[in-house]
Amino acid sequence: MPKYTTHNPLAWIEDSLADLEKQGLRRNLAVRGGRQAAQIELDGSRLVNFGSNDYLGLAADPRLAQAVRESLAGWGSGASPLITGHADAHQTLEDRLAQFEGTEAALLFTSGFAANTATIATLVGPGDVVFSDRKNHASLLDGCRLSRADVRAYPHCDHRSLDRLIGQATTYRRRLIVTDSLFSMDGDIAPLVELAELARRHDAMLMVDEAHATGVFGRTGRGLCEQLGVEGGVHIRVGTLSKALGSIGGFVAGSRGLIDWLVNRARPYIYSTASPAAVAAAGMAALDIVRDEPHRRQQLLDRAARFRATLVEHGWNVGNSTTQIVPIIVGDAQRALDLSATLREAGYFIPAIRPPTVPEGEACLRVSLSFGHTDEQIDGLIETLDSRRMCP
Ligand code: PMP
Repeated sequence: MPKYTTHNPLAWIEDSLADLEKQGLRRNLAVRGGRQAAQIELDGSRLVNFGSNDYLGLAADPRLAQAVRESLAGWGSGASPLITGHADAHQTLEDRLAQFEGTEAALLFTSGFAANTATIATLVGPGDVVFSDRKNHASLLDGCRLSRADVRAYPHCDHRSLDRLIGQATTYRRRLIVTDSLFSMDGDIAPLVELAELARRHDAMLMVDEAHATGVFGRTGRGLCEQLGVEGGVHIRVGTLSKALGSIGGFVAGSRGLIDWLVNRARPYIYSTASPAAVAAAGMAALDIVRDEPHRRQQLLDRAARFRATLVEHGWNVGNSTTQIVPIIVGDAQRALDLSATLREAGYFIPAIRPPTVPEGEACLRVSLSFGHTDEQIDGLIETLDSRRMCP
Protein backbone atom coordinates (compact mmCIF):
# COMPACT_ATOMS: atom_id res chain seq x y z
CA MET A 1 0.00 0.00 0.00
CA PRO A 2 1.49 3.39 -0.90
CA LYS A 3 1.79 5.56 2.15
CA TYR A 4 0.62 9.16 1.69
CA THR A 5 2.37 11.69 3.86
CA THR A 6 1.52 15.31 4.59
CA HIS A 7 4.03 16.34 1.92
CA ASN A 8 2.42 19.18 -0.03
CA PRO A 9 4.03 19.99 -3.39
CA LEU A 10 1.85 23.13 -3.61
CA ALA A 11 3.16 24.61 -0.34
CA TRP A 12 5.17 27.15 -2.37
CA ILE A 13 1.90 28.78 -3.39
CA GLU A 14 1.05 29.70 0.21
CA ASP A 15 4.55 31.20 0.61
CA SER A 16 4.26 33.15 -2.63
CA LEU A 17 0.82 34.49 -1.71
CA ALA A 18 2.15 35.56 1.69
CA ASP A 19 4.98 37.40 -0.10
CA LEU A 20 2.50 39.20 -2.34
CA GLU A 21 0.47 40.17 0.72
CA LYS A 22 3.57 41.60 2.42
CA GLN A 23 4.36 43.74 -0.63
CA GLY A 24 0.79 45.05 -0.92
CA LEU A 25 0.44 43.18 -4.23
CA ARG A 26 -2.03 40.42 -3.40
CA ARG A 27 -5.25 40.60 -5.41
CA ASN A 28 -8.64 39.42 -4.19
CA LEU A 29 -11.90 39.04 -6.04
CA ALA A 30 -14.81 41.32 -5.16
CA VAL A 31 -18.33 40.13 -5.90
CA ARG A 32 -20.67 42.46 -7.77
CA GLY A 33 -24.36 42.11 -7.09
CA GLY A 34 -26.86 43.27 -9.73
CA ARG A 35 -25.99 45.03 -12.97
CA GLN A 36 -22.85 46.71 -14.20
CA ALA A 37 -23.55 50.47 -14.30
CA ALA A 38 -22.30 53.82 -13.01
CA GLN A 39 -23.53 52.77 -9.55
CA ILE A 40 -22.81 49.21 -8.48
CA GLU A 41 -23.11 47.00 -5.48
CA LEU A 42 -19.73 45.50 -4.64
CA ASP A 43 -19.27 43.10 -1.74
CA GLY A 44 -22.58 44.44 -0.41
CA SER A 45 -21.73 48.19 -0.60
CA ARG A 46 -23.36 50.69 -2.97
CA LEU A 47 -20.55 52.50 -4.79
CA VAL A 48 -20.15 54.99 -7.60
CA ASN A 49 -18.24 52.93 -10.13
CA PHE A 50 -15.12 54.44 -11.69
CA GLY A 51 -13.55 51.05 -12.36
CA SER A 52 -15.29 49.60 -15.42
CA ASN A 53 -14.54 50.05 -19.12
CA ASP A 54 -18.20 50.63 -19.91
CA TYR A 55 -17.33 53.96 -21.53
CA LEU A 56 -20.62 54.60 -23.32
CA GLY A 57 -22.81 53.25 -20.52
CA LEU A 58 -24.11 50.44 -22.74
CA ALA A 59 -23.47 47.38 -20.54
CA ALA A 60 -26.83 47.78 -18.81
CA ASP A 61 -28.64 49.44 -21.72
CA PRO A 62 -31.99 47.63 -22.05
CA ARG A 63 -31.67 47.65 -25.86
CA LEU A 64 -28.71 45.23 -25.70
CA ALA A 65 -30.49 42.87 -23.28
CA GLN A 66 -33.65 43.08 -25.43
CA ALA A 67 -31.69 42.24 -28.59
CA VAL A 68 -30.27 39.15 -26.88
CA ARG A 69 -33.72 38.08 -25.63
CA GLU A 70 -35.25 38.48 -29.07
CA SER A 71 -32.50 36.49 -30.75
CA LEU A 72 -32.51 33.62 -28.29
CA ALA A 73 -33.31 30.40 -30.09
CA GLY A 74 -31.08 28.39 -27.78
CA TRP A 75 -27.84 29.17 -26.04
CA GLY A 76 -24.67 27.17 -26.63
CA SER A 77 -22.84 27.26 -29.97
CA GLY A 78 -21.67 23.67 -29.62
CA ALA A 79 -18.38 23.78 -31.51
CA SER A 80 -15.58 25.94 -32.85
CA PRO A 81 -16.45 28.24 -35.77
CA LEU A 82 -14.84 25.99 -38.39
CA ILE A 83 -16.98 23.02 -37.34
CA THR A 84 -20.59 24.08 -36.61
CA GLY A 85 -20.15 27.02 -34.21
CA HIS A 86 -20.28 29.87 -36.76
CA ALA A 87 -23.95 30.91 -36.83
CA ASP A 88 -25.72 33.31 -39.19
CA ALA A 89 -25.74 35.93 -36.41
CA HIS A 90 -21.92 35.74 -36.17
CA GLN A 91 -21.63 36.22 -39.94
CA THR A 92 -24.01 39.18 -39.89
CA LEU A 93 -22.05 40.79 -37.06
CA GLU A 94 -18.75 40.23 -38.87
CA ASP A 95 -20.21 41.88 -41.98
CA ARG A 96 -21.47 44.77 -39.83
CA LEU A 97 -18.07 45.13 -38.17
CA ALA A 98 -16.29 45.22 -41.55
CA GLN A 99 -18.76 47.88 -42.71
CA PHE A 100 -18.30 49.83 -39.46
CA GLU A 101 -14.51 49.66 -39.73
CA GLY A 102 -14.47 50.32 -43.48
CA THR A 103 -12.43 47.19 -44.15
CA GLU A 104 -12.89 44.27 -46.52
CA ALA A 105 -13.57 41.82 -43.72
CA ALA A 106 -13.66 41.27 -39.96
CA LEU A 107 -13.40 38.23 -37.70
CA LEU A 108 -14.90 37.67 -34.27
CA PHE A 109 -13.01 36.12 -31.37
CA THR A 110 -14.43 35.13 -28.00
CA SER A 111 -12.38 37.90 -26.36
CA GLY A 112 -10.05 40.75 -27.22
CA PHE A 113 -7.34 38.84 -25.39
CA ALA A 114 -7.76 35.88 -27.73
CA ALA A 115 -7.86 38.19 -30.78
CA ASN A 116 -4.51 39.73 -29.86
CA THR A 117 -2.61 36.57 -28.94
CA ALA A 118 -4.02 34.69 -31.94
CA THR A 119 -3.29 37.42 -34.46
CA ILE A 120 0.32 38.10 -33.50
CA ALA A 121 1.19 34.41 -33.32
CA THR A 122 -0.41 33.94 -36.75
CA LEU A 123 1.44 36.80 -38.43
CA VAL A 124 4.98 36.16 -37.20
CA GLY A 125 7.05 33.17 -36.11
CA PRO A 126 10.64 32.02 -35.81
CA GLY A 127 12.85 34.03 -38.16
CA ASP A 128 10.59 37.10 -37.84
CA VAL A 129 10.73 40.07 -35.48
CA VAL A 130 8.02 41.99 -33.67
CA PHE A 131 8.45 45.50 -32.27
CA SER A 132 6.25 46.08 -29.26
CA ASP A 133 5.67 49.23 -27.19
CA ARG A 134 6.92 48.64 -23.65
CA LYS A 135 3.50 49.49 -22.21
CA ASN A 136 1.46 47.31 -24.53
CA HIS A 137 -1.38 45.29 -23.02
CA ALA A 138 -0.60 41.85 -21.57
CA SER A 139 -2.47 40.14 -24.42
CA LEU A 140 -0.14 41.75 -26.98
CA LEU A 141 2.92 40.77 -24.95
CA ASP A 142 1.67 37.21 -24.65
CA GLY A 143 1.00 37.11 -28.39
CA CYS A 144 4.61 38.16 -28.98
CA ARG A 145 5.89 35.43 -26.67
CA LEU A 146 3.62 32.81 -28.16
CA SER A 147 4.76 33.61 -31.70
CA ARG A 148 8.39 32.63 -30.98
CA ALA A 149 9.48 35.54 -33.15
CA ASP A 150 12.26 37.76 -31.80
CA VAL A 151 10.71 40.52 -29.71
CA ARG A 152 12.13 44.05 -29.52
CA ALA A 153 10.37 46.16 -26.89
CA TYR A 154 10.74 49.87 -27.66
CA PRO A 155 10.42 52.67 -25.07
CA HIS A 156 6.83 53.78 -24.59
CA CYS A 157 5.57 55.80 -27.57
CA ASP A 158 9.16 56.49 -28.67
CA HIS A 159 8.94 56.26 -32.46
CA ARG A 160 12.49 57.55 -32.92
CA SER A 161 13.93 54.62 -30.95
CA LEU A 162 11.67 52.32 -32.91
CA ASP A 163 12.95 53.78 -36.18
CA ARG A 164 16.53 52.97 -35.12
CA LEU A 165 15.59 49.46 -33.98
CA ILE A 166 13.82 48.61 -37.22
CA GLY A 167 16.68 50.06 -39.23
CA GLN A 168 19.02 47.56 -37.53
CA ALA A 169 16.71 44.57 -38.02
CA THR A 170 17.36 43.90 -41.67
CA THR A 171 17.93 40.16 -41.65
CA TYR A 172 14.44 39.04 -40.67
CA ARG A 173 11.83 37.51 -42.93
CA ARG A 174 8.85 39.57 -41.65
CA ARG A 175 8.64 42.60 -39.41
CA LEU A 176 5.60 43.55 -37.34
CA ILE A 177 5.01 46.68 -35.26
CA VAL A 178 2.35 46.28 -32.61
CA THR A 179 0.84 48.88 -30.29
CA ASP A 180 -2.21 49.79 -28.25
CA SER A 181 -3.81 52.92 -29.69
CA LEU A 182 -5.04 54.08 -26.26
CA PHE A 183 -2.94 52.71 -23.42
CA SER A 184 -5.19 51.09 -20.87
CA MET A 185 -3.45 52.19 -17.67
CA ASP A 186 -1.95 55.56 -18.64
CA GLY A 187 -4.79 56.86 -20.80
CA ASP A 188 -2.31 58.22 -23.33
CA ILE A 189 -2.20 57.73 -27.09
CA ALA A 190 0.34 56.05 -29.38
CA PRO A 191 1.99 58.21 -32.07
CA LEU A 192 -0.02 56.47 -34.78
CA VAL A 193 0.83 58.92 -37.58
CA GLU A 194 4.53 58.39 -37.03
CA LEU A 195 4.14 54.62 -36.62
CA ALA A 196 2.23 54.37 -39.90
CA GLU A 197 4.93 56.37 -41.65
CA LEU A 198 7.65 54.13 -40.14
CA ALA A 199 5.81 50.98 -41.19
CA ARG A 200 5.52 52.33 -44.74
CA ARG A 201 9.16 53.37 -44.95
CA HIS A 202 10.51 50.11 -43.49
CA ASP A 203 7.98 47.89 -45.28
CA ALA A 204 6.72 46.48 -41.95
CA MET A 205 3.25 45.29 -40.92
CA LEU A 206 1.45 47.56 -38.44
CA MET A 207 -1.09 46.16 -35.95
CA VAL A 208 -3.06 48.50 -33.69
CA ASP A 209 -5.19 47.41 -30.74
CA GLU A 210 -8.10 49.86 -30.42
CA ALA A 211 -9.67 48.08 -27.41
CA HIS A 212 -10.18 51.27 -25.38
CA ALA A 213 -10.81 53.55 -28.36
CA THR A 214 -13.46 51.58 -30.28
CA GLY A 215 -16.77 53.43 -29.91
CA VAL A 216 -15.13 56.41 -28.18
CA PHE A 217 -12.82 58.15 -30.69
CA GLY A 218 -13.17 59.07 -34.35
CA ARG A 219 -15.95 60.78 -36.27
CA THR A 220 -17.98 57.59 -36.55
CA GLY A 221 -16.58 55.94 -33.41
CA ARG A 222 -14.13 53.59 -35.10
CA GLY A 223 -11.29 54.64 -32.83
CA LEU A 224 -8.03 56.55 -32.90
CA CYS A 225 -6.90 55.33 -36.32
CA GLU A 226 -10.00 57.06 -37.69
CA GLN A 227 -9.50 60.13 -35.51
CA LEU A 228 -5.87 60.54 -36.63
CA GLY A 229 -6.56 59.70 -40.28
CA VAL A 230 -4.18 56.72 -40.45
CA GLU A 231 -6.53 53.85 -41.23
CA GLY A 232 -4.97 53.39 -44.67
CA GLY A 233 -1.54 52.80 -43.09
CA VAL A 234 -2.66 50.32 -40.42
CA HIS A 235 -2.80 46.78 -41.79
CA ILE A 236 -4.32 44.97 -38.82
CA ARG A 237 -6.86 46.62 -36.50
CA VAL A 238 -8.12 44.92 -33.36
CA GLY A 239 -11.21 46.09 -31.50
CA THR A 240 -13.29 44.75 -28.69
CA LEU A 241 -16.99 44.54 -28.03
CA SER A 242 -16.34 44.23 -24.30
CA LYS A 243 -15.62 47.84 -23.35
CA ALA A 244 -17.44 50.82 -24.91
CA LEU A 245 -19.73 48.43 -26.77
CA GLY A 246 -20.98 46.99 -23.48
CA SER A 247 -20.86 43.35 -24.52
CA ILE A 248 -18.21 40.63 -24.94
CA GLY A 249 -15.82 39.45 -27.65
CA GLY A 250 -12.93 40.81 -29.70
CA PHE A 251 -12.54 41.33 -33.44
CA VAL A 252 -9.90 41.83 -36.08
CA ALA A 253 -10.63 44.07 -39.07
CA GLY A 254 -8.55 44.18 -42.25
CA SER A 255 -8.13 42.76 -45.71
CA ARG A 256 -9.97 39.66 -46.92
CA GLY A 257 -6.64 37.84 -47.16
CA LEU A 258 -5.74 38.67 -43.55
CA ILE A 259 -9.05 37.37 -42.26
CA ASP A 260 -8.86 34.19 -44.36
CA TRP A 261 -5.34 33.58 -43.07
CA LEU A 262 -6.54 33.96 -39.46
CA VAL A 263 -9.40 31.52 -40.09
CA ASN A 264 -6.84 29.03 -41.37
CA ARG A 265 -4.07 29.53 -38.86
CA ALA A 266 -5.18 31.28 -35.64
CA ARG A 267 -5.18 28.52 -33.03
CA PRO A 268 -7.41 30.26 -30.40
CA TYR A 269 -9.96 30.71 -33.22
CA ILE A 270 -9.69 27.21 -34.66
CA TYR A 271 -9.53 25.25 -31.42
CA SER A 272 -12.01 27.11 -29.20
CA THR A 273 -15.80 27.03 -29.10
CA ALA A 274 -17.57 30.00 -30.74
CA SER A 275 -19.44 32.38 -28.45
CA PRO A 276 -23.23 31.88 -28.28
CA ALA A 277 -24.93 33.36 -31.36
CA ALA A 278 -27.17 35.49 -29.13
CA VAL A 279 -24.07 37.39 -27.99
CA ALA A 280 -23.74 38.69 -31.55
CA ALA A 281 -27.18 40.33 -31.26
CA ALA A 282 -25.88 42.50 -28.41
CA GLY A 283 -22.90 43.54 -30.56
CA MET A 284 -25.22 44.62 -33.38
CA ALA A 285 -27.46 46.60 -31.02
CA ALA A 286 -24.36 48.34 -29.64
CA LEU A 287 -23.13 49.23 -33.15
CA ASP A 288 -26.54 50.78 -33.89
CA ILE A 289 -26.23 52.94 -30.77
CA VAL A 290 -22.67 54.02 -31.62
CA ARG A 291 -23.94 55.08 -35.07
CA ASP A 292 -27.15 56.80 -33.88
CA GLU A 293 -26.00 58.43 -30.63
CA PRO A 294 -22.68 60.20 -31.23
CA HIS A 295 -23.48 62.55 -28.33
CA ARG A 296 -22.48 59.73 -25.97
CA ARG A 297 -18.83 59.79 -27.05
CA GLN A 298 -18.75 63.57 -27.41
CA GLN A 299 -20.12 64.14 -23.92
CA LEU A 300 -17.78 61.51 -22.44
CA LEU A 301 -14.70 63.14 -23.96
CA ASP A 302 -15.78 66.68 -22.98
CA ARG A 303 -16.34 65.53 -19.46
CA ALA A 304 -13.01 63.70 -19.36
CA ALA A 305 -11.20 66.86 -20.50
CA ARG A 306 -12.85 68.89 -17.71
CA PHE A 307 -12.09 66.17 -15.14
CA ARG A 308 -8.38 66.00 -16.07
CA ALA A 309 -8.03 69.78 -16.09
CA THR A 310 -9.61 70.10 -12.63
CA LEU A 311 -7.43 67.36 -11.15
CA VAL A 312 -4.27 69.01 -12.50
CA GLU A 313 -5.43 72.40 -11.19
CA HIS A 314 -5.87 70.77 -7.77
CA GLY A 315 -2.33 69.38 -7.83
CA TRP A 316 -2.94 65.75 -8.79
CA ASN A 317 -0.65 63.96 -11.24
CA VAL A 318 -2.60 62.48 -14.17
CA GLY A 319 0.50 61.62 -16.22
CA ASN A 320 0.04 62.00 -19.97
CA SER A 321 -3.63 61.08 -20.12
CA THR A 322 -5.62 62.80 -22.86
CA THR A 323 -8.59 60.44 -22.77
CA GLN A 324 -11.43 58.98 -20.70
CA ILE A 325 -8.90 56.84 -18.77
CA VAL A 326 -7.35 59.04 -16.12
CA PRO A 327 -4.63 57.63 -13.84
CA ILE A 328 -4.02 59.42 -10.57
CA ILE A 329 -0.39 58.55 -10.06
CA VAL A 330 0.69 58.12 -6.45
CA GLY A 331 3.84 56.00 -6.94
CA ASP A 332 3.86 53.57 -4.04
CA ALA A 333 1.65 50.45 -4.20
CA GLN A 334 0.59 50.67 -0.55
CA ARG A 335 -0.31 54.35 -0.89
CA ALA A 336 -2.47 53.52 -3.91
CA LEU A 337 -4.23 50.80 -1.92
CA ASP A 338 -4.77 53.11 1.06
CA LEU A 339 -6.21 55.89 -1.09
CA SER A 340 -8.46 53.42 -2.91
CA ALA A 341 -9.71 52.08 0.45
CA THR A 342 -10.38 55.58 1.77
CA LEU A 343 -12.36 56.49 -1.34
CA ARG A 344 -14.30 53.30 -1.05
CA GLU A 345 -15.36 54.19 2.49
CA ALA A 346 -16.65 57.44 1.02
CA GLY A 347 -18.69 55.54 -1.60
CA TYR A 348 -16.39 55.56 -4.66
CA PHE A 349 -14.92 52.51 -6.35
CA ILE A 350 -11.59 53.28 -8.02
CA PRO A 351 -9.16 50.38 -8.37
CA ALA A 352 -5.56 50.72 -7.25
CA ILE A 353 -3.31 49.61 -10.10
CA ARG A 354 -0.05 48.13 -8.92
CA PRO A 355 2.94 46.29 -10.35
CA PRO A 356 3.14 44.10 -12.36
CA THR A 357 0.28 45.83 -14.23
CA VAL A 358 2.26 49.10 -14.09
CA PRO A 359 6.02 49.52 -13.65
CA GLU A 360 7.46 49.69 -10.11
CA GLY A 361 6.95 53.20 -8.65
CA GLU A 362 4.02 54.04 -10.95
CA ALA A 363 1.13 52.69 -8.84
CA CYS A 364 -1.99 54.71 -9.47
CA LEU A 365 -5.71 54.92 -9.06
CA ARG A 366 -7.20 54.31 -12.48
CA VAL A 367 -10.29 56.41 -13.00
CA SER A 368 -12.35 55.21 -15.91
CA LEU A 369 -15.07 57.63 -16.96
CA SER A 370 -18.36 56.64 -18.54
CA PHE A 371 -21.18 58.45 -20.33
CA GLY A 372 -23.31 56.93 -17.59
CA HIS A 373 -21.74 59.06 -14.83
CA THR A 374 -23.46 62.26 -13.75
CA ASP A 375 -21.61 65.57 -13.25
CA GLU A 376 -22.51 65.32 -9.55
CA GLN A 377 -20.76 61.95 -9.27
CA ILE A 378 -17.62 63.31 -10.89
CA ASP A 379 -17.61 66.52 -8.82
CA GLY A 380 -18.19 64.39 -5.71
CA LEU A 381 -15.16 62.27 -6.55
CA ILE A 382 -12.94 65.34 -6.97
CA GLU A 383 -14.13 66.82 -3.67
CA THR A 384 -13.54 63.55 -1.87
CA LEU A 385 -10.09 63.13 -3.39
CA ASP A 386 -9.16 66.67 -2.32
CA SER A 387 -10.43 66.14 1.21
CA ARG A 388 -8.61 62.80 1.66
CA ARG A 389 -5.40 63.87 0.02
CA MET A 390 -2.44 61.86 1.28
CA CYS A 391 0.66 63.80 0.39
CA PRO A 392 3.67 61.79 -0.74
N1 PMP B 1 -6.41 45.03 -25.33
C1 PMP B 1 -6.38 45.94 -24.35
C2 PMP B 1 -5.57 47.19 -24.57
C3 PMP B 1 -7.09 45.72 -23.17
O1 PMP B 1 -7.04 46.62 -22.18
C4 PMP B 1 -7.84 44.55 -23.03
C5 PMP B 1 -8.69 44.25 -21.80
N2 PMP B 1 -8.40 44.87 -20.66
C6 PMP B 1 -7.83 43.63 -24.07
C7 PMP B 1 -7.14 43.90 -25.21
C8 PMP B 1 -8.59 42.35 -23.96
O2 PMP B 1 -9.89 42.54 -24.33
P1 PMP B 1 -11.05 41.61 -23.74
O3 PMP B 1 -11.36 42.15 -22.39
O4 PMP B 1 -12.14 41.75 -24.73
O5 PMP B 1 -10.47 40.24 -23.66
